Amino acid sequence: MKFRTQIFLAAFVTTGLTGLIATLLLSWSLRAQMIGRIERDLEAKTRLAAELISRQPPMTQPQLDDEADALGAKIGARVTLIAPDGRVLGDSAEDGPALAAMENHGTRPEVLASKTSGLGMSQRYSHTLGVDLLYMAAPTRNSSVATVRLALPLTDIQRQLGEIWRLSFIALGAGFVVALALAWAASTLLSRRVRAIATVAKRYASGDVSSPSYDYGDDEIGTVARVLDDSVQELGRRLDELSRDQARMAAILSGMIEGVLVVNVQGRVQLANDAVRAMLALQEPPESRHYVECIRHPDIAGTIGRVLAGEKVEALELTLRRDAARTFIARVAPVEAPGGRGAVLVLHDITDLRRADQIRRDFVANVSHELRTPLTAIRGYVEALTDSPPDDPRRFLEIIARHTHRMERLVMDLLRLARLDAGQEVIEKVACSVEAVVAGVRTEIEPASQARGQTIRVTVPPDAATVWADPVKLHDVLRNLLENAVNYASEHSVIDVASRAADGGVALTVTDRGPGIPEGELPRIFERFYRVDRARTRDPGGTGLGLSIVKHLVELHGGRVTAANRPEGGAVFTVWLPN
Ligand code: ADP
Repeated sequence: MKFRTQIFLAAFVTTGLTGLIATLLLSWSLRAQMIGRIERDLEAKTRLAAELISRQPPMTQPQLDDEADALGAKIGARVTLIAPDGRVLGDSAEDGPALAAMENHGTRPEVLASKTSGLGMSQRYSHTLGVDLLYMAAPTRNSSVATVRLALPLTDIQRQLGEIWRLSFIALGAGFVVALALAWAASTLLSRRVRAIATVAKRYASGDVSSPSYDYGDDEIGTVARVLDDSVQELGRRLDELSRDQARMAAILSGMIEGVLVVNVQGRVQLANDAVRAMLALQEPPESRHYVECIRHPDIAGTIGRVLAGEKVEALELTLRRDAARTFIARVAPVEAPGGRGAVLVLHDITDLRRADQIRRDFVANVSHELRTPLTAIRGYVEALTDSPPDDPRRFLEIIARHTHRMERLVMDLLRLARLDAGQEVIEKVACSVEAVVAGVRTEIEPASQARGQTIRVTVPPDAATVWADPVKLHDVLRNLLENAVNYASEHSVIDVASRAADGGVALTVTDRGPGIPEGELPRIFERFYRVDRARTRDPGGTGLGLSIVKHLVELHGGRVTAANRPEGGAVFTVWLPN
C-alpha cells in the first residue's frame, strides 16, 4: 500500500471515528437535556394544575371533566383528574361514555408514587391513546379530586430527537467530506516530500552522493532527512578519500619494482601487485585464494606461515624456479590489522645488484692486474739497472718508458670511463665533416700504420659527408677503432674507413683485413678489460678499455656501435649516429 494511501486512510478512519463518537455523545447529551427539560416543564405544570384544582370549590363530575378539558387546552398536555378511590373524574382526551369506561387509575404507578412522595412520574404506552406517554401526577387539596395527572406524548420528544440525529449526521457527513479533502491534501503533500527524500536516498544508494538541491523543510521529517543527508555527505567524503587512497596505493604498488603480496589472518591473499605476479609466475588473480595455493615456493610459503604464527623471521635470499639465474630477497613482515595479524611479503630482485657488485669486484681485480704487469716489469728493469748497470742502459730505459706509457694510458682511460660513468662528459653536437674528422685521426695514427706498411682508404659519399656529432668525441671514437685496426690487422693490408646514409643517420665503418673476432666473443667485445686472446694482444699499448670508451661515447650521441666480421676475414666496426 502506498505511503500516501496509508496516511490518507489513517486520517480518514481517525476523523470518521472521532466524528461518529462526537455525534453520538452530543445527541445523547442533547436527548438527556431535552428529556430533563420536558420533565421539569411537566412537573411545574402538574404542580400548577394541582394548585388550581385545589383552589376550586367542590364540583360535579361533568364540571370536573370540563375543567380537565379547559386545563388540558391551556397547558398543552393531557389532563386527568382522579378521585381518591381511583376513578377518573375528568380527562381532557376522553369524554362521555369513553370517560365513563376508563379503568380505575388508583393503581397507576405515578398516582401511587404521588401519594407517597408528593409527585409521581412514569413513562409507558397508553392503551387509551395508543402512544408512548410521560405521566406526572400530584395530589390536590380538593375534596372531590385526589390527584391531578398530566401526560405528554413522547412522540414529540422522539421527533425532536430524530431531527437532532438528522442534523448531527448531516454535520458529520459535511465534516467528513472536509476532513477527507484535508486528509487527501495533507497526505499528498507529505507523500510528495517523502517521495522526494526517497529519490535522493535512491540516488545515494546508486553511488551518487553529490549534494541535493532539495529543500527538506523545517519540521521533524526535514530534520531527519537533513541529518541523514549530512551523514551520507560525510560518508561520501570519506569514501572519496578512501578511494583516492586506494588509487594512490594501487598506483604505488603497480609502479613498484618490488613484488608485494598481502595476506590476511586466515592466510587469504588480499593484495598482490603486478611485480609479484610476474616474479611468482601467478597465472590467475591470487586475491581471495589461500597463499599456499598460489605460492609454490616452499621457503616463501613457510616464512609467511611462521610470520602468521607470530614468529620473527629473517630476510631470505633465494632463486625462483622460473628463472634460476635471478636472485631475490624475500622479506615477510607482520601486519597488525583490526581483525588479527596478517603478513606482507616483499620480493626484491637483487640480481642486478649482485651483478654490479661482481662487475665492481672484477673491475678492481682487472685494474690491479693491469697495473701490476707494467709495474713488475719496471721494477725488474730498475733492479737490473741498479744491481749490475749494463754498458748501454738505453734499451732497459726504453722498456721502462714503454711500460710507464702503458700505465699512463691505462690511468687516463680509467679516468675517462669514470667521468663517462658519472655523466660528467657532455656533448656539443655540430655538423661535422666526416672527411675532416677522419683526416685528423689519420694524421695521428699514420706513423704506426706506415710502420706496418698498411694503407688507410677513406670513402665518403656526398649524401653521408656530414655527421651530427661532437667533433672531439667522434675523433676519439674513430681513433680507437683505427688504432685497433692498425694493431690487429696484418702488415701491408688495407684498412677501409667509409660512411653511408642509414636509418635517418650516418653509419661510419672501419673495416680491416686482420684475423677478425671469433663469433662467440662478439657480444663481449665492448666489456671493460675484455680481450679476445690475452696472448695475442701482447701489445703493451692496449688497455682493454678502448672499445668500452667507444661504446660510451657513441651512446652519449644517441647512437649505437656494433662489431662484426667480414666473410672474407677481418673485423668490421660500425658506428651509427642519428642526424
Ligand atoms: P685494447 O686496448 O686491448 O685494444 P679494446 O677495448 O680496444 O682494447 O679491444 C678489446 C679487444 O677486442 C682487443 O683486445 C682485441 O682482442 C679485440 N679487437 C679489437 N679490435 C679488433 C680488430 N680490429 N680485430 C681483431 N680484434 C680486435
